[in-house]
Amino acid sequence: MTGLYNHGWICGIIHDMEYKEALCSRFIRYTAFDTMSDQSLAGKVRPTTEGQEKMFLALSDEMRKLGLEVYYGEEKVLMGVLEGNGAEGSVAFMAHVDTASDVPGNGVKANLIRSYDGSPIVLDGVTIDPAEDPDLLKYVGSGIITSDGNTLLGSDDKAGVAIIMTALSYLSEHKEIRHPRVEVFFTPDEETGTGADRFPYERMRSSVCYTIDGEAEGEIEAECFNAASARIEIEGTASHPGSGRGRICNAAVAASHIAVMLPASQSPEATDGRYGYYAVSSIEGSMEKASITITLRDFDEDGLRSKIETVKAAARAVELLYSVKAEAAITMQYRNMGAMNSEHPEAMDAIRRSAERNGIAITEKIIRGGTDGARLAEKGIACPNIYTGGHNIHSRSEWIAVDAMESSLRLVLGIIEDMAL
Ligand SMILES: [Zn+2]
Repeated sequence: MTGLYNHGWICGIIHDMEYKEALCSRFIRYTAFDTMSDQSLAGKVRPTTEGQEKMFLALSDEMRKLGLEVYYGEEKVLMGVLEGNGAEGSVAFMAHVDTASDVPGNGVKANLIRSYDGSPIVLDGVTIDPAEDPDLLKYVGSGIITSDGNTLLGSDDKAGVAIIMTALSYLSEHKEIRHPRVEVFFTPDEETGTGADRFPYERMRSSVCYTIDGEAEGEIEAECFNAASARIEIEGTASHPGSGRGRICNAAVAASHIAVMLPASQSPEATDGRYGYYAVSSIEGSMEKASITITLRDFDEDGLRSKIETVKAAARAVELLYSVKAEAAITMQYRNMGAMNSEHPEAMDAIRRSAERNGIAITEKIIRGGTDGARLAEKGIACPNIYTGGHNIHSRSEWIAVDAMESSLRLVLGIIEDMAL
């Protein structure tokens, strides 16, 4: 252990109320930006909403004031760099500025309970009751932040943004602390699945990029699904049904037949844990022309490959059964970041060491979905996902404990410290 750790700066922040306060007020300030993303514009406009652009500009100013070099180019990903300070290497952190649209996400009025007393939290039309949400009771005495009940809160992922910004401000105000180059990336439109469609890879030097986009305190996610989408276009032959004998080759029926050929035991409604699935997400068409779209998910790469083969075989089968033409097009969406995290064991090791030193109990979980990080994993970058402390995300009863956010901040600072050792 070097002298750096002996200076105890990470331990210092635990008692540094000023930073807890800064983290809390920064997060509340960010919740006021109207950054709800718009699925209908995903892939067409970037960012999909003006509020995200406004938040990027505000964050750029804030980063410049902290002494960071800022880049905001055509990728529409805001990048900040805090140059290394006597330590080699580079480490990256990422969060997204947009919020979900499952419930209203704009016009957020954050409600801060300074010292939670353990009773039900009554908001406009919504009550957050510890009887149904026992995790609340872990935070009696801590600050709790909710919305006023009319919107979501936006801890997903403005808490991630606030944690990263507070870590940067801590480092830039404590110049005596040695640290490697720290790169931060704030993405738009993560909730629409297009956040990492464009990314300034050529500016990036880090081979590890932590996303701060998880949920309950202590949860670390190092694995997600391998993901692909299959779309089968079917061409049939239409005719008047009255004289259709021997003529009609029904594309719509062929598409439905593909749907029922998929194993029911591997549907989303029949699987959980490490089991992958086939999910029919749409069937459209007529006698002449039809298409079916199937979402394929598996933690295992061979598992995903076999699902792709099954779908192709189903397309061939309906060609024979219905004398139609069925063509399957497969789009690979993202990969399980687990493989890349195993190739860069230093990424998870730094989390585990930081947690141990900070006295934070962590649990490693798998995500039945993807993250922006998973897209980076395809480029050889390890991207474990770290908790923000948020609960009931994408809902009006969303809440976050200030102590949980602060724990994530300490974990992040500890990771940066670890890289300087
Ligand atoms: Zn998120």
